[in-house]
Amino acid sequence: MSQSIHSTSPKNIIFMIADGMGVALVSAYREYVNQHADGLRQPCIYNHHLVGQQSTYSFDGWSTITDSAASSTAMATGSKTANGIIGQDKDGQRLESVVEVAKAHGKKTGLVATAEVSHATPAGFGAHVASRNDYFAIADQYFDDKVGDDFKLDVMLGGGRHHFIRPDRNLGYEFKKAGYDVIHTHSELAESTNSQVLGLFSEFGLPMAIDRNPQVIPSLKEMTQSAIKRLDNEQGFFLMVEGSQIDWGAHHHDIVAAMSEIADFTAAFEAALDFAKADGDTLVIATADHATGGMTMGVNEVASWLPEYIRAVTQTPGKIAKDMLLSHDWMQSLTDNIDFTLSSTELNQIYSTYQQNAFTPEQKRVNLEDTLCEIIDRRSNTGWTTGDHTGEDVNVYAFGPGKEAWAGWRENSHTGQQLKAWAAGQDMTSIDPFEAE
Ligand SMILES: [Zn+2]
Repeated sequence: MSQSIHSTSPKNIIFMIADGMGVALVSAYREYVNQHADGLRQPCIYNHHLVGQQSTYSFDGWSTITDSAASSTAMATGSKTANGIIGQDKDGQRLESVVEVAKAHGKKTGLVATAEVSHATPAGFGAHVASRNDYFAIADQYFDDKVGDDFKLDVMLGGGRHHFIRPDRNLGYEFKKAGYDVIHTHSELAESTNSQVLGLFSEFGLPMAIDRNPQVIPSLKEMTQSAIKRLDNEQGFFLMVEGSQIDWGAHHHDIVAAMSEIADFTAAFEAALDFAKADGDTLVIATADHATGGMTMGVNEVASWLPEYIRAVTQTPGKIAKDMLLSHDWMQSLTDNIDFTLSSTELNQIYSTYQQNAFTPEQKRVNLEDTLCEIIDRRSNTGWTTGDHTGEDVNVYAFGPGKEAWAGWRENSHTGQQLKAWAAGQDMTSIDPFEAE
């Protein structure tokens, strides 16, 4: 049965989640890419495709602020849940996900992430567990929990080898025996043509985009393009892509990491848009699961934000700190990676952290990282109000047939209901975003 091209039911959906990318970070990213901003800025890709906003809050007692597990569950299953829970409600009832509905309706499915593919956001689309920390159980379910006779997921690309290839169980071997390509490097990704693949490119999360060796670790864009190539077929596909570590940068108040991770996500978004433009029957949606860090452009009564100090740093402060501790010449590691002149006060601050005793080498590295983040935040006038998530709504971006159904404001659980309606072959506009659950 061939699907008719109807404006509200595209054949394929690529659903992209920028973890932790609140509205302020998107505005900041536009300034960051406008190298010679003077007068009107060049709009960035997000400005072109903005269609609406969604809520993020979870059902977690009096708290209104979600974590990635509850938000992912809402977007994947159409029901809000409590923080920490994956693919279930608060009573432990299993909630069917868009991946499972799509699979049951003959579509191919995939998950791509720069965190572990068993991490909270992808897990919300592919697993059902009481705790997001049950990484082994999540990985097991990707293999064991079938839809009919089929594996739930055709494509899994990201980090997390540690959760799949273990002393007690080798899911790499099991997937390989079941006909999947199981790959671990950038070149293997390029060589593999199997429509079903498990690609695990690091033990845990991938290195931050700016620290990655592109010869070894694929970018989010490369993983997204590879996933699309494998999934594209007559019956259509659902692909979830997560830019996982924007959130991790923001938790650390590391604006260098956050901007570089947004750049990595943006390149993947552009690649998805290119495919959708050529294909004509693919809807691309991009959004965030929540904001992180309470980031502000401007801080402490200073009304300017100076991204040139962020652009001048060529590795994350965490990686620079690591290099400083491994090198015989800590000053060289600094000047190699920070292309503005540090003041004597800043150098003293760095040197005193470098000299200070710490309980472990890792603690010492973290202390140095924090000092470097502080200096870059101060130079660029980047403010942070919390080390945790924040509760405001996030933007929704869309391109392709059916994007009208995503205009305006919605609950994040309505996002999931719309995705599931689409996967079941129903009209996405049949879900009223203002109707109570
Ligand atoms: Zn998150």
